[in-house]
Parts: sequence; structure tokens; C-alpha cells
Amino acid sequence: MAARYIFRLDDIAPNMHWDNYLRVRDLFDANGIRPLLGVIPDNQDPELLKFPAAESDFWDMIRGTRQKGWEVAQHGFQHQYVNQEAGLLGIARGSEFAGLPYEEQYEKLQTGRQVLQQHGIETDVFMAPSHSFDENTLRALQELGFSRVTDGFALYPYMYEEPLFVPQILATHWPMPLGVHTCCMHLNGFGEKEYQQLERFVKRYARQAIPFSDAHKYVARRWGNREFGMVIKTALEFIRKIKHALRQTSISRQPESRNEESGNAEPLLEARCSHETISHPS
Ligand SMILES: [Zn+2]
Repeated sequence: MAARYIFRLDDIAPNMHWDNYLRVRDLFDANGIRPLLGVIPDNQDPELLKFPAAESDFWDMIRGTRQKGWEVAQHGFQHQYVNQEAGLLGIARGSEFAGLPYEEQYEKLQTGRQVLQQHGIETDVFMAPSHSFDENTLRALQELGFSRVTDGFALYPYMYEEPLFVPQILATHWPMPLGVHTCCMHLNGFGEKEYQQLERFVKRYARQAIPFSDAHKYVARRWGNREFGMVIKTALEFIRKIKHALRQTSISRQPESRNEESGNAEPLLEARCSHETISHPS
């Protein structure tokens, strides 16, 4: 079976890069793509608050997307990192949840969920800021009835105790020979180059796109699924470190050439949720 692609948009909040969002929305609509929106219930992230506020009712807009089959994940609570914990996945330092006591995590998740509910949005999908969560997060999610998580390293979705994990290895988009892959995008960091790359990919692979709600159909329990995912993760991390080192060398030689708007150009492993991808391309 050819690879399947899920499109995921992170950091959806009243303050964001609306021009980019509307442009990608039109691209997705024109090609029948139904993405997963990572909506921050109560955005207090100072970096994200620098973006312009929505001109119309944000929550009304979110409810409208659901009517055309787009899906919503709860993207943390306030999107504020409180420590340097990388959590179970160990992708990036910085977390809103990992390392905190169970009760504190439960309260954050519950309050976030209530905010969404107050705006008429129910979801059982969790998207952790910076991919950082721990066993206490998973316990709290289970208690609160979340049954799906958009994260993890594997070729196909898998069950880890209770929640269904839908793997998310790729930042943006990258053709793969097989598996179910989540293309993770931070539109706040999109420049023209990133949009063009996305447009080409969408037009070529739209027929292989699936909505997040179909991920459970591809669950694989056979040996090798997660092991192969870890191999991919290790390989991508290695490539990313090399590219990062090369880029740092280039930046130190030509500081004026740095483009602060091209934060999402990295097509490989997703590293940070927002801060680094906005202001410090890595
Ligand atoms: Zn985020």
C-alpha cells in the first residue's frame, strides 16, 4: 500500500499569521485535504501573541471548519513552556506538561478542555506543544477521555496502553514509500518557499491524503512498526544535526543573509513547536 499522509496545522489560535492560514486553507479546500487543527485553548504564549488577532470571530471560524470535515486537536492549554523537559519522545527541550505532578497536568488539560467545550468544540485528540509529554500526561489524558494522540515514532498508528498514537515524524512534508505519515506545519513560520513546496506536494499526493479520523484503520501491531520508526527518528536526527551544524557555520560567516521568516523550511524531523521555528530556524 502506498504511503498515506495526514496534514496537521499547529498553533492555531486567535493570534496567528492569518494571511498564511487563509492561503493554505484555500489550497486544502481546492484539493480536498481535511487537516487536523491544533487549537490552543487559551493562548498565552508571548511569541504567538505577537501575531495579529483574528478580524472575525475565531471560534466561529473553527466551528465552521468542522462542518467541512476538518478536525480539531487540543493543543496543550496555554502553550507556555514551564521547564526544559523533553518528555517521553525526547524531541525538544521545553514542555507545558512533562515533569509536572499528575494533579497539575490534569488540571491544565481539564481547563483547556472546558475552554474548548465552552466554544462548542469537543475533541478526544491531544497534540502536545513541542511533542513533550510524560506518563502522567498520558494518565491524565486517559482520565479525561482523550483517546488519540498525534505524535510518536512508527510507520503506522499504534496503541500505547490506551491512547491511539498516530505517528508524527516529518516536519512539513516529504514523500515516503509506505506508512502513515503526519505532515506537521507551523504556518506562522511559512514563507513563500515553504508555501510553494506545500502546494507542489499537495497537488501530487492529494489522493494519498487521509483525515486524522481514518488513522485507526491503519493500526499495525506487528513487530517492526515502532522499531522501524525509531530507526527513522535516529537517522533524521543525525541528518538534522549535520544540517544544523552546517547552517550555523554559514550563519556565523554571513549573519546578514539569515531569513527570519523561513522558519519552517526544514523538511525533516520536527524539532520545536513554535518558538524555535519562528525566531530561530533550526
Ligand atoms: Zn505549538
